[in-house]
Amino acid sequence: MATSPIGAGRPKTRGIVLNLIRAARTISRIELATRSGLTPATITQVVRELMEHGLVVEVGRGASTGGKPPTLLQLNPLARYAVGVLVERNTCVIVVVDLTGRQVARTAFPGTALMPPDQALPLLASRVNALLGTAGVDRDRVLGVGLATYGPQDRRAGVLLTHAPTAEWFEYPIAPRLSAVLGLPVLLDNDAAAAAFGEHWLGAVEPRTYGCLYMASGIGGGVVVDGEVYRGRSSNGVAIGHITVDPDGRACDCGNYGCLELYAGPHAVIEYAMAADGLGQRLGLDPAGVDVMGQFRRVATAASAGDPAAKRLIERSARHLGTAAVTMTSLFDLDLIVLAGPSFAVAAAIYQSVIEAEVQRRTFSRRAHPMRVVTSVSGSDAAAVGGAVLVLQSELACLELG
Ligand SMILES: [Zn+2]
Repeated sequence: MATSPIGAGRPKTRGIVLNLIRAARTISRIELATRSGLTPATITQVVRELMEHGLVVEVGRGASTGGKPPTLLQLNPLARYAVGVLVERNTCVIVVVDLTGRQVARTAFPGTALMPPDQALPLLASRVNALLGTAGVDRDRVLGVGLATYGPQDRRAGVLLTHAPTAEWFEYPIAPRLSAVLGLPVLLDNDAAAAAFGEHWLGAVEPRTYGCLYMASGIGGGVVVDGEVYRGRSSNGVAIGHITVDPDGRACDCGNYGCLELYAGPHAVIEYAMAADGLGQRLGLDPAGVDVMGQFRRVATAASAGDPAAKRLIERSARHLGTAAVTMTSLFDLDLIVLAGPSFAVAAAIYQSVIEAEVQRRTFSRRAHPMRVVTSVSGSDAAAVGGAVLVLQSELACLELG
């Protein structure tokens, strides 16, 4: 390595080159030099190194611009993998993605609702190991696990700062403990931030700056600014489920009053359905039941099938979420909101149309540019997929080659 051009062989330089190849899907060495600002000699050396380690492959030739057509490069999708885990009160989703972020395996099972962490973690670890085995993925090629769950959380320490789903989870070091059980690095992240980032990394959204509303058993938000998740001071920002929509509203567990989640979230919709004339009974709902998302799905399914009473409740939830979307678009001057998470999946068409109408009617910057609301390409799996691609981003940005 004594003759390395400046920058070649350094982990960060490799990360820049890998990320450019990933984003372009296929790209020539010359184009890599142009886009990175690195010299052609540096690019040649870094690409050689990446090819020697099987991370990048040549895939034929591009169009000629006068001379010899350039050789095109792309990532070798099978070179590395990442695991994404969504831990929710009512559901857990595990995905394995390849180096390009493509999902190669998935499993889902009932959540950790009332399970203590010491029982939940071995279960999660055994499911991760089983999924890697089924997919035939060699553990040596797994960069790590992205664990997406609700907040607040101490992301750097991998510790939860919430009493949900039970008091035993408060200050529980979920990431280090899961890492110890699995023998793989584990990154903790906010489910909504992970879902938001996944859309960008998978190339599903065109703008590099946009917002994401995430709804599972609770409501969260994420904003991506110029291709990076907006982190704020502690990665607990854009907590859009906990903005006040009724200043005289009741106290929320978060410490605030009249929070959006208390009016628009799955639990609120179930409560309203119980209060509506016969709807709760008709759909067999139990407001004290543990499976909040399962019960919410029944209301959303009825609404999508045209049940007028159920539709009114989902539309009311959607209008409140529209207020959240308007808050996001006006604060950050966004032109795109992505709806992600399992609780948007069933009645997605109703939520999308109502929320889009609200942002188009009420956002401060609406006369300056068009406003759009779209549903996530990863749907219910958005946070798990996002967790996995956050691992890819983090590991590839500073890749050590053995
Ligand atoms: Zn709150």
